[in-house]
Amino acid sequence: MAGRIPENILEEILSRINIVEVISEYIPLKKAGRNFRALCPFHHEKSPSFMVSPDRQIFHCFGCGESGNAFKFLMRYERMDFPEAVSLLARKAGIVLPESAKEDPRAVSLSTQLFKINELALGFYTGLLASAQGAAAKTYLLERGLTEETIKSFRLGWAPDKWDALIEFLRSKGVGLSLMEKAGLVLPKQNGGYYDRFRQRIIFPIFDIKSRVLGFGGRIMHSSDNQLAKYVNSPETPVYTKGRNLFGLNLAKEAIRQSDCAAVVEGYLDFIIPYQQGIQNLVASQGTALTEEQARLLKRYTRNVVMVYDADNAGQMAALRSLDIFIEESMEVKIVSLPQGFDPDTFVRQKGAQELKNMIENAEGLFDYKFRILKSRFNASTPEGKARISSEMLSTIGRFKDAVLKAEYLKILAQQLDVPEYSLREELGKLRDNRPQPADSPLVKKTETVINPTERLLIKIMMEETRLVDYIRQHLEPSDFQGEVTSRIVSFMFELIQQGKQIEANTLMNHFEDKDAMRCICESVFDGEVTQENREKVVDDCIRMIKNKRMVVTRQRLQEQMRRAEVSGDEVNLLRLRDEFCSLLKRSKE
Ligand SMILES: [Zn+2]
Repeated sequence: MAGRIPENILEEILSRINIVEVISEYIPLKKAGRNFRALCPFHHEKSPSFMVSPDRQIFHCFGCGESGNAFKFLMRYERMDFPEAVSLLARKAGIVLPESAKEDPRAVSLSTQLFKINELALGFYTGLLASAQGAAAKTYLLERGLTEETIKSFRLGWAPDKWDALIEFLRSKGVGLSLMEKAGLVLPKQNGGYYDRFRQRIIFPIFDIKSRVLGFGGRIMHSSDNQLAKYVNSPETPVYTKGRNLFGLNLAKEAIRQSDCAAVVEGYLDFIIPYQQGIQNLVASQGTALTEEQARLLKRYTRNVVMVYDADNAGQMAALRSLDIFIEESMEVKIVSLPQGFDPDTFVRQKGAQELKNMIENAEGLFDYKFRILKSRFNASTPEGKARISSEMLSTIGRFKDAVLKAEYLKILAQQLDVPEYSLREELGKLRDNRPQPADSPLVKKTETVINPTERLLIKIMMEETRLVDYIRQHLEPSDFQGEVTSRIVSFMFELIQQGKQIEANTLMNHFEDKDAMRCICESVFDGEVTQENREKVVDDCIRMIKNKRMVVTRQRLQEQMRRAEVSGDEVNLLRLRDEFCSLLKRSKE
């Protein structure tokens, strides 16, 4: 993996940066003994199991098993590829990467290529919107209230009414059809060949927080073109996963951070028009229900979210239920529902941005809002109505992490519905028992490779005390380790020692790409300390146990082979196997 960037440079970078500082830029870390602890950014959890070791410069989550060094953290958290993570940290460490490390074409990952193609395609579309071909589309946008400046800053474009306009353009830039297809820009024809996905549409590019083009949304100009779908969007590609990003966050993130609040709207124009009018702490969800990943993405900038619903979306139970994810993330969510017939785009154009701003500032809390909607739907004076309302409300209340908040809301709900509080408590208890296991439950770990604790302990000791590696190497072969993962790690450690190198957990990470190996190394770092004076005895014990285990496994294998040789009457082989078996027994007695 680290093939083209010299290993010593990677080590140099890692030695100059501090993983605690790197990770603190993204999530708050709390000191816990020698280490730091946090709620894991990679899976949903209520109590922190994400650990960072300043001594070993690695991180590990005991909940989901995600682990690695500073490079791996950036790759996972910022979705960078390896060279990107390296160059970012190199800059931080004040290290200039050799030119060869930057411009090796082999190193250009698929995602880098796709970003490049998307950028080329966007250049094509924006060029067309500015040209005579896009004149009608541009007039349409201006009439909808967008300014020239907005069209430029959002980089809107136009896809012409042709089957191969983009294909021809990208071809002229040397892009192959298979990459165009991977970027989701073209579709295969039934009888061979390809055609443009976006035709006769206004193009809204979708960016990630670093303003790289992830994909596109294409919208028809007039709803009267009703033989066409109103929207066509990029499919999922290696760089674009639906529900993972938020439209406009690249432009809005600073405003969100400063105002400590994010208003969430749905469509592109619901974002663009208010943004143009000065409401800049906005994002567009591109769907009615938010995903957990979108909630966590917002949480990097603020804990306060205001959902801005059109009147026809307001009160949809599915959308309301999806808001519980914010509560699980300890975020505060409020709701604005616009008057009948309005969406944020039309509302701002007719009533002005200040009016929407006021509504956002005076938004209603989720509890009150949901309760009001439920009361309008079910009769709160009948027993059945009370049961329906309370079950919906309890599913929200049950998600508060804060026990005081939970108790307070239960009290309010009991008063409002005029039912005894203990009955609500009882229902809440049932709800908890029936709920599906959350992702951080130990159940999900079943499929992971189980690492033998003795083997892991030896790996830990080898990382802590290089001088013991030689001793261990005299007594054990990598193949003595029964686990595939541990055997691979140990074989690599032996190799490093032979080359006269040091073994460090964080640099070791550069050589492994699979989760299992990284997890094994990082987990062992957080295993209990082995005291200095005990170490040699522990090492001897481990060696003995591993050898014994190896002996048992070999014995079983030989017995099985002898049985088979006997059945098939293979005398020669049987004799050889017996010999082997006897010498094994002799050795095990020693
Ligand atoms: Zn985790």
